[in-house]
Amino acid sequence: MKRLHWPQAAPGALRVDGAAFHHLVRVLRVGVGEAVELFDGKGAAFSAVVESLGAEALELRVGAAVAQGQRAPPAYLLQGLPKADKLDWVLQKATELGVDGVFPVEAQRSVAKLPRGADAKLARWQKIVDEAARQCGSAAVPTVGTPAPLDDVLRSLPPSTLVLVLDEEEQHLRLGAALTGKLEQPVALAVGPEGGWSREELAVARAAGAVGVTLGKRILRTETAGLAGLAVLRHLQGLLG
Ligand code: SAH
Repeated sequence: MKRLHWPQAAPGALRVDGAAFHHLVRVLRVGVGEAVELFDGKGAAFSAVVESLGAEALELRVGAAVAQGQRAPPAYLLQGLPKADKLDWVLQKATELGVDGVFPVEAQRSVAKLPRGADAKLARWQKIVDEAARQCGSAAVPTVGTPAPLDDVLRSLPPSTLVLVLDEEEQHLRLGAALTGKLEQPVALAVGPEGGWSREELAVARAAGAVGVTLGKRILRTETAGLAGLAVLRHLQGLLG
């Protein structure tokens, strides 16, 4: 199904021009009479049909909201800022796995701090998740936070969120075990950067009520750890696998 992100999507007639027109006509090559799906990025999707096609705009007839699949409690990824463009990849894959928000953390051991031109970066990150949500058929587009230190990010989460800090030095508590009986509440997985979380950050997180968990004996790279954690979470919640 050809899909378009349209934040104000609602039933009725809709004129589409500009970048969205370009995307539908030049990239997706829609034609008159063709069905497309609009999604609003907040969880609703609508079926639509192309009614007419001009040189610079097209008209859509937008129908009723399409029933969405199973809803799950929100899952957030708190990702210690990794090197170079690794976060781009994490954003794309985490969206595919059903994340609701990715909050980059300027961790004490992050080599990359808040990058110059942060606004441009944020716009690019948002574009990556938009694109990934559209590609995987999700009506919800994840939020991407502005990079901030761990304590600020923890304070910004909804109060009922269970925060699990992925810690390769935790010897006993497995992620799956920590989630037992907690599958109906929002969960945030906090993954350190390449150098891991500092002792101070682990202490800050514990003081804020977070729990340290392990994914097992293997030390995973930062970009693998969060995705593996999300896959476990979404599996236990019945959404994956
Ligand atoms: N401190 C280590 C490796 C850090 S791995 C070093 O430099 O040698 C980067 C991050 O991935 C960690 O902070 C942790 O959040 C996550 N991680 C990797 N392997 C993990 C595991 N087996 N269990 C839990 N978290 C893990």
